[in-house]
Amino acid sequence: MSDEHAPTQTPATADATSPRRTRVAIERVRQEDASPEAIHQAVRQALHATAAFDEAVRAGRRVFLKVNLVTNASRDEGICTDPEVVRAVIEEVLARGATPIVGDNPAVASTKSVLKSSGIGAVVESFGLEVPSLSETATLRCARAERFNAFEVSRAILDADVLINLPKLKTHSLTYMSMAMKNLFGLIPGTRKARWHVRAPHADLMATLFADLYSGVVDHFTAQGRGLIHLCDGVIALEGDGPGHGGKARFLGAILASSDGVALDRVGVDIAGLDFKRLTTLQKATRRGLGEGCLNNIEITGAAISDFAGVTLEEPAGGGMRIEGLGARLANQRWLRDLMIDHPELTADLCVGCRRCAEICPVGAITFVGEGANARPAFDKRPCIRCYCCAEVCPKGAIAKSRVPWLGRLLG
Ligand code: SF4
Ligand code: SF4
Repeated sequence: MSDEHAPTQTPATADATSPRRTRVAIERVRQEDASPEAIHQAVRQALHATAAFDEAVRAGRRVFLKVNLVTNASRDEGICTDPEVVRAVIEEVLARGATPIVGDNPAVASTKSVLKSSGIGAVVESFGLEVPSLSETATLRCARAERFNAFEVSRAILDADVLINLPKLKTHSLTYMSMAMKNLFGLIPGTRKARWHVRAPHADLMATLFADLYSGVVDHFTAQGRGLIHLCDGVIALEGDGPGHGGKARFLGAILASSDGVALDRVGVDIAGLDFKRLTTLQKATRRGLGEGCLNNIEITGAAISDFAGVTLEEPAGGGMRIEGLGARLANQRWLRDLMIDHPELTADLCVGCRRCAEICPVGAITFVGEGANARPAFDKRPCIRCYCCAEVCPKGAIAKSRVPWLGRLLG
């Protein structure tokens, strides 16, 4: 899994006195005792172990909890951030005298409906909190960007004093895995995310985009006394063809926290038993010095990565295979592309004809064939940029990646 040495292991109690190093807190929740209290305890310990939480979250500050509200799904499906994790973070923020604000930008479903189905809405209501509109945008400049140097993101998030990023630990059809860095793509409102897939029409460029966006978020929230903390919910993880209903929930029992999203993602890959070299966003962010991607330089507190030994989440179809070098140049030729890279495929029996896939498709590659309620999507491979937004929003898991064609397997 890793070609690096074991990371430094430090008890959480030593954090307050140890010199500043990149630190990732790991807490474990056992399946036989995954009560709300056990989750709360794990969240509390992980948050306070980061040190950044106690420094940044103070009386009078507005703290935005950026949850993961991909699409309508219940807690047990492992798709959205666990409501008990959100509850625990809200309580910790309130205990510090700060004001929590909860939100996200689902791709096509309404925020209200995803809050309700995920159970997060009930948690937010129980504290009497309002969920703000995130449609108004402001420009996030990314001075350290390699390619994409400005993003229009939700103003309400940028205006917060502190951002607590609350991703779900998942495997992902396009990006291999989704944790801290990928979750920040949700700062971009609704279907505007799909337009970015047109500007970055293959997985490698999307990884550059995620790293550029991450650099801007880090610079914004670490300037002028603001704060940035990442807490990844891997209590019920998602494996296979995530990040939506194409994936399968799997109990993992992991809570990770860090002020460094790159370090958190690096540790998260190992906890999932997967291959960090395939997480292209992590590779790019590490090479560019946006965070600590080397396990040797990461101080682990709480539990150990080895506590999750034996866990291997199922990879997304194709195993996150990337075509690089000559293969990538060939794959950019339209006439060769269909021979080399996967494409979305429909399982017609699962489809209910809701048309969400066509709504989100950024290039209009989906048309409907048939009459009325019996109409079903058809995919045009020529304009399709393989962003898999359609699979992400499908409420029935009816869209999956095809097998990689033989030429792609040969060059991959
Ligand atoms: S058909 Fe699906 S994978 Fe292809 S461009 Fe449209 S949303 Fe993306
Ligand atoms: S494939 Fe999924 S998103 Fe598209 S119409 Fe069918 S059920 Fe809806």
